[in-house]
Parts: sequence; structure tokens; C-alpha cells
Amino acid sequence: MAGGLRNIIGALALAVCAIVGAAGAQEFRALARLDLARSGIVDAGAAVEITLGISQPIPFRVFLLDGPPRLVVDFSELDFGAAPAATLGASRAFTALEWGLASPGWTRLIAHLAAPMAVTEAWESTGAAPQIQVRLEPVSAEEFVASAGAPVATRWQLPKAAVVAAPRRRQTGEAPLVVALDPGHGGIDPGAEAEGLAEAPLVLGFARELKEVLTRAGMRAVLTRDEDTFVPLEARMSAARAAGADVFLSLHADALAEGEAAGATVYLLAAEASDSASARLAERHDRGDLLAGVDLAGHDDEVAQVLMQMARAETQPRADGLAVALQAAILGSGLKMHKKPVQAAAFSVLKSPDIPSLLLELGFMSSTADRKRLADPAWRATMAEAISAALQAWAVVDAAEARYLRQ
Ligand SMILES: [Zn+2]
Repeated sequence: MAGGLRNIIGALALAVCAIVGAAGAQEFRALARLDLARSGIVDAGAAVEITLGISQPIPFRVFLLDGPPRLVVDFSELDFGAAPAATLGASRAFTALEWGLASPGWTRLIAHLAAPMAVTEAWESTGAAPQIQVRLEPVSAEEFVASAGAPVATRWQLPKAAVVAAPRRRQTGEAPLVVALDPGHGGIDPGAEAEGLAEAPLVLGFARELKEVLTRAGMRAVLTRDEDTFVPLEARMSAARAAGADVFLSLHADALAEGEAAGATVYLLAAEASDSASARLAERHDRGDLLAGVDLAGHDDEVAQVLMQMARAETQPRADGLAVALQAAILGSGLKMHKKPVQAAAFSVLKSPDIPSLLLELGFMSSTADRKRLADPAWRATMAEAISAALQAWAVVDAAEARYLRQ
């Protein structure tokens, strides 16, 4: 039984991946160039490593094909330049190299293999000198045939899923409330930027301040990222789950072109966005994962999605309740909220089936008034106290309901 349950949780984790949408995929355009001076091929014992220096991080995927055996690396519009692929270098493992346009928007590197190999690493680093690295090691012909045909890089790009034995049991007020604070963006994805302010460091700073306030109020707060690094959406949810979070709160301060978006806004998960601005916000956040080369398309599992919907049926009303509590506390503290304070959109980061999850836009970078507020320590302190009060008020009601349901 326990094994079966674990399989279901595994399936749920896959379904979460499946929904991290392809919506933004079509629009993403990078104009990255290959830097031959930082690129090359190195034989390391029986293994071989390909390093590609690139001018900027781009989506990519790696897979093996049979007949003849070859390694394929697809890039979202990487410009190889005029030199032939052989300029990259040579290896005992490769009989020939090719590169060129694969399909509109995608370019491809092909390495023909002298013997069967497996991809053991495929990674993109995103610092000042971004590069993509692929490592291959010899395998048996049977192993090669078993792994050839499907894109494999996404497996390495994904973080290890947290080990979860059972769905999170609802909090009943007997232990401190565990709050996962999720500062949006980070690393190669700075989020919204306006007049020298960037969303990623701003929401990280606020998350640290909020953590202190929640800790003083007797809660246990954990951050899904505590540095300026890129954290994929799925890893954020895994971190919350591993910490045993009772609540997941994603913190943002985005920009909207409309010019009318101002004031804090609470976002709930919904299949349908409440308006086109909300839909664009949700799409933009999913695109962050593409930036890091995490292509989650193709992980579809209908059964798992049905299971997830069942879990959500209990979780969603609890998230709704928290949204109402947040609205009351924020407005009650005299802070400005958006003219529609609670909205809905298909934010992938909110798709944990068993943890009530909300996304809070503290304000909008596109609004001059909001930027002033976001930069004001007194405003941030008042906002942090309001969130703390909302969580405490909600937790009491939520725990009472859990105890009632249990009887
Ligand atoms: Zn954001």
C-alpha cells in the first residue's frame, strides 16, 4: 500500500512537471552566438566532454538517435558562425560532427558515435561566461538502444524530487505553522526591471524580512531560494514539500505594460486567468524555466492529472480562505491594493496539489508609486506584519476545520 501511495506521489510530481506550460515556448527568442574560443571537445578516459561557450543562456535539449548512432543537441537559435563543425575539435568517440539549422528557431549539433554511448551529464552554466556541457560515457549496445530516441537532457536539468511518503497532512494548530516563502525569479532570470530596481533581489530581501517577522510570531518560515540563483519551478515546490510546508507563498513585484496595474495583488491558481494581463503574467513566469534549458513538454500523464485535481478539491478552498485573510489584513493595515485585490491565473508555481498556495504581487515595478513603496523599509515592515497577521488568523480557522473534519 505504502509503495502504491509513493507511486501516486511520483505520478503527481510528474503531472506538476507536465503543466509547467509550453505557453511561453513559442515566443521565446534568443540570439545567442557560439564562442569557439571557449568551446571544445575533450577525451577523458573512455568518456568524452563537449563544451560550448555561448554568448547568453539559451534553451537546449540533448538526445541520442540510432541508425546510425549519434548524439543530437538542439538549441533555441544558437548561431554557430561560418566555420565548419569540425572546428570544434575531435574525439576518438566521434566519427564526424555536423551543425546547422534543424527547424525554424532551432539549430542542431550532431556527433556521429564510433561506439554506443550514454549522456551522463548535460548542463548549462549561466554566469558571466555561459556554457553548455555534455558528457558521454560508453555503454553496451543494448543500453544505447534503450535510451536512444527520446530527449534525455530534461532529466538532468530537473532537480531530484523530494522523497514524500504521503500527502501532507493538514495542520491542526498543534505545531508551529510551516510557511514556505518563495522569492520569485533569481540568477539568469532577474524578473521585472525598472529604473535600476530588479524584482529578483527585491523579493528576496522582502522574503528574508518576512521570515524574521513570521519567526518572531511563532511560525517556521523556509525560503525556496536564499541566494541570487535560478531555481526551477519544480524545485521550488519540492523544497516546500521537503520542508513540510503547510502554506506556500510566492512573492513577486512584476511589471505590466498596461500602466494601470498598481497595488498589492493576491493571485490564486485557476485554469482560466481573470484577465489578459493575469494570463501574460503567468506565461512570463513559466518562461523562466525555458531560460535555463528545462524543457518539460511531453511529461503528460492524464491519470496523474485526475489525481491532482482530486487533491486540489480540498486544497483550493483553503487557499481561497487565505487569500481573503490576506486581503483583509493588507487593507486593514492601510496598504494599497490593486482595484481587484484577488485575481486568478495559471501560475505553475502554485500547482502543488496538497499545499494551499498563493502568489502575492507586493506591487508592480511598472508603477512609480509602487516602486517607491517597495523601496521603503517602513512600508515593507507594515506589509510583512500584515502577512503575518493574515497567516495567523487563517491558521486558527483552518486548524479548527481540520479537527472538525477529522472527527
Ligand atoms: Zn515575478
